[in-house]
Amino acid sequence: MSDRNSSLFERAQRHIPGGVNSPVRAFRSVGGAPRFFKQGAGACVTDVDGKSYLDYVGSWGPLIVGHAHPDVVAAVQAAAAQGLSFGAPTEAEVDLADLLCQLLPSMDMVRLVSSGTEATMSAIRLARGFTGRDLLVKFEGCYHGHSDSLLVKAGSGLLTFGNPSSGGVPADLAKHTLVLDFNNAAQLEQAFAEHGDKIAAVIVEPVVGNMNLIAPQQEFLQAMRALCSKHGAVLIFDEVMTGFRVGLSCAQGRFGITPDLTTLGKVIGGGMPLGAFGGRREIMEQIAPLGPVYQAGTLSGNPVAVAAGLATLKLIQAPGFFETLSAKTAALCSGLENAARQQGVAFSAQAVGGMFGLYFRAACPQTYAEVLECDKAAFNRFFHAMLTAGHYFAPSAYEAGFVSAAHSDADIAETVAAAGRWFANPV
Ligand code: PMP
Repeated sequence: MSDRNSSLFERAQRHIPGGVNSPVRAFRSVGGAPRFFKQGAGACVTDVDGKSYLDYVGSWGPLIVGHAHPDVVAAVQAAAAQGLSFGAPTEAEVDLADLLCQLLPSMDMVRLVSSGTEATMSAIRLARGFTGRDLLVKFEGCYHGHSDSLLVKAGSGLLTFGNPSSGGVPADLAKHTLVLDFNNAAQLEQAFAEHGDKIAAVIVEPVVGNMNLIAPQQEFLQAMRALCSKHGAVLIFDEVMTGFRVGLSCAQGRFGITPDLTTLGKVIGGGMPLGAFGGRREIMEQIAPLGPVYQAGTLSGNPVAVAAGLATLKLIQAPGFFETLSAKTAALCSGLENAARQQGVAFSAQAVGGMFGLYFRAACPQTYAEVLECDKAAFNRFFHAMLTAGHYFAPSAYEAGFVSAAHSDADIAETVAAAGRWFANPV
C-alpha cells in the first residue's frame, strides 16, 4: 500500500480511536489498513492514491443509485443553498413523510431522525411506552444500532436473559432484553408462552444483513406476527438496511407481513444522515408532543438530508428499477458460485433484491450457528485478493454486500472474472 494511505492511517490513529469513526471500517476483521477514499462516482470509489475499485459496499447500503448520482447531488446543492438547517418544519419533510406512508401501507405516521440507531432506539422506547411493558425480544446476530438495550447477545441456552456485549451497558438494562435464535419459530413460541405478558416488542431484521445475509423462513416471520398480535406485543421490523433495498415495498411487502412499527435509514437518506420510524397511528400518537413518550432531535428532518432522500426515492420508483437491480445482484451471486464450483471451492452466495451474502461454505446458512461455520480465513484471503484487483467488498465475513443501479453488467462480469482467477489459486 502506498505512503499516502499509510501515513493517513497513522495520523488518523493519533486523534481518532482506531483511526476510524465507526469500528468495522478499521479492517480489524480482515487485517491490514483501511482504504481512505477521496471520491466516488457511479459504481466506483477512488482511494487517496488514485486507485479505483468497483464498490460493493455503497456506504453500507445507502447508495442504491451509485455514488454522487447527478440528481441527488443537484437536490442536495439546491437544498443547501436555501439553508442547512432551521430547527423548524419544512415542506420537504412533509413530502418525505407522505411518500414513506404511501409506499409502506403499514405506516400511518412517521417521524424523521438522523440515523438508524436513533430510529430503533426511539421505536423501542415507543413500544415500551405504548405497552407499559419492559421486555424486548431480539435475535442473535441481528444488529439494530448501538443503543444500550440492543447491545446484548445471547447466552447459549433457550430463553437465556442477555448479558451486555459491550462495555458500558448496565447489566440491569441488559436483563430486559431476551435474545433468541433467528429462524427458530418454536423457540419464539416458547418465549411468548413463558413471558408473553411482559414482552413489549419483538425487533427483527426481516432479512438479516448484519451476520452476513440470512434470509428469513416465511413461517418464522408469520409466527412472529401471530405471536405479537396474540400477546399484545409490538412487532418492529428494522428495515434500516432492507428498506427500499430488497424492493420498493421493502421486506414487509416482499414477505407479506405487516409490522406495527418500521425503522428506516440508509436508502431513505441517499447517503446523508437520515433515519425514520413509523407505523400504526395509535402507537405513533404516543410520541411527544402528542403523547408521553419523549423523542427529539436538533437536526431531525434536516433539509439537505431530506433532499437527498427524496431524490433517491424518486429514482428508485422508476419502472423496472428493482427488477434490473435484483437481476444484476443475482447475476453476481450466481457468477461467483459458478466460478467457485469450477475450481472446487466450498462457496455459496445469495441475493435478496439489491443486497447479497457471500459464504465460504457449501450451502447458504440459515442460522447464526451456520454463519459461524463459514471459513473466515478463506474470506479474508478472498477479500484482500479482490481488493488488490480493484473490487471493494465489505471488510468482514459477517456483513452483507450491496449492488447499485450504477453497476453495469460489464462491472459484474469483471468482478466475477477476478474472483474466478482467485478461486483457481485461492491463496
Ligand atoms: N439497523 C440495522 C438493520 C442496521 O443495519 C444498522 C446499521 N448498519 C442500524 C440499525 C444502525 O444504523 P446507523 O448506523 O445509521 O445508526
